[in-house]
Amino acid sequence: MWNNRPSQQGLFIVISGPSGTGKTSVIRALCESDPTLAFSISATTRPPRSDETNGVDYHFLDHTEFEDLIQSDGFLEWVKYGEHYYGTLKSTIESTVGSGKDLILEIDVHGAKKIRNLGIRYTSIFLLPPSLESLEKRLRNRKTESDSELQQRLLIARSESDFISGYDYCIVNPDHNVEKAVTQIRHIISAERCRIDDQLLAAISQEFSSTQ
Ligand code: 5GP
Repeated sequence: MWNNRPSQQGLFIVISGPSGTGKTSVIRALCESDPTLAFSISATTRPPRSDETNGVDYHFLDHTEFEDLIQSDGFLEWVKYGEHYYGTLKSTIESTVGSGKDLILEIDVHGAKKIRNLGIRYTSIFLLPPSLESLEKRLRNRKTESDSELQQRLLIARSESDFISGYDYCIVNPDHNVEKAVTQIRHIISAERCRIDDQLLAAISQEFSSTQ
């Protein structure tokens, strides 16, 4: 029957945006407000920040562990961002697919492109800060990067804007109002859950043919 949506397969929702836009806070609030959403915990060689927990925010690995996983084909995608590796583990995806949950991937623009090139269907959302000035202020205020790392992140942010045209949706995360972006993403997800796909068409066709 067709009234069992969301489909068994679940949605892939890719969220990208410049460092400091507030992606993590938005995604945390989003997942807390909707238990049918699962966050894909990436692996990284970046050291944990004071408020981060291994296995919750990231799987924190050393360079050798990460490179071994690259060699053994353990990643769906991986990138070098600044001085560090980041990647989506295949094992994380495999444990979520089939659970019926929709998976949120917080990945950079190059990772998103790699996943698209693999032919995986996903919904992509680009999160923007209200302005570049506000982005710089947010990065400075959180005090998690050295000055040179901060400058590097601002440079990367400028280059990332070239990729926005490849995204399905773009929303602005205003200062001091996580809820606004969360609500907009929830609306996008609701709409995507109503999208016509082969599974729905098959269910409708089966229902009609069985009641003829
Ligand atoms: P941060 O160090 O601020 O946590 O993350 C730096 C950048 O890496 C962000 O743009 C974030 O979206 C991206 N990122 C985090 N995890 C992954 C991942 O698994 N794959 C890719 N491609 N990018 C990631």
